[in-house]
Amino acid sequence: MNGTKTALVTGANKGIGFAIAQGLASMGFRVAVGARDLERREEAVAKLRAEGADAFGLALDVTSDESVAAAAASLSRLDVLVNNAGIAGGFPQETTSLDLGILRTVLDTNVFGVLRVTNAMLPLLLRSESPRIVNMSSNMGSLTLRTGPILAAYASSKTMLNSITTLYARSLAETPVIVNSACPGYVATEFTGYAGSRMPAEGAAIALRLATLPDDGPRGGFFDDAGVVPW
Ligand code: NAP
Repeated sequence: MNGTKTALVTGANKGIGFAIAQGLASMGFRVAVGARDLERREEAVAKLRAEGADAFGLALDVTSDESVAAAAASLSRLDVLVNNAGIAGGFPQETTSLDLGILRTVLDTNVFGVLRVTNAMLPLLLRSESPRIVNMSSNMGSLTLRTGPILAAYASSKTMLNSITTLYARSLAETPVIVNSACPGYVATEFTGYAGSRMPAEGAAIALRLATLPDDGPRGGFFDDAGVVPW
């Protein structure tokens, strides 16, 4: 398929998602800014366009079947999907007293949202010559590292997301679709109360690398800037 490649970033109105949209645009992609709030979406698109990006807004709530189906139906081409939208779920998330409502809410966005969006977008991605999917995970989901504060809903959602990444890689092994998980590090965004030590553009870098992997690039892995993150 010739012409300008199209990328969709979910949760692209702010934080790391916005930085990923900026980065993909600067690499020549036409970028769909997936965001659920009209005002925040239009503001982000305007900012990207002012920087010279070929960007457009795409109404997208990853927790809604209708919203995701409508978003997929409105696209005619998709080469890269970055499943970036994610929520922490609030505090506390102590395992021994975990509110299961929080777990459901977090899973609905961080895991079901990724399946919902990915499966809706797959028919489009399968028409691309070099389709790539990046799932924004976290080293807090690493069963080996067991890092960060105890956020029982959030951390386990990212563990499950990593599992989903490896399952997609198996299901899509005979196709050109390359799927990987990315960890952005500890980034200063609303998500962390701007406490992270890295800037959004630094957090976006690994997603940009995985979104533009060569055809023989790794499949079904978990990576950060330093390389492979242990599961
Ligand atoms: P952020 O600044 O809070 O941005 C999160 C984005 O996700 C926002 O655009 C938000 O939209 C969107 N979103 C949430 N629920 C959504 C839904 N149902 N439908 C569509 N969009 C939705 O967070 P961030 O720090 O950039 O995090 C981005 C990703 O990186 C997340 O998956 C997070 O788990 C991961 N991550 C972050 C860090 C870190 O240190 N920041 C570390 C590891 C992993 P609204 O503006 O509408 O809420």
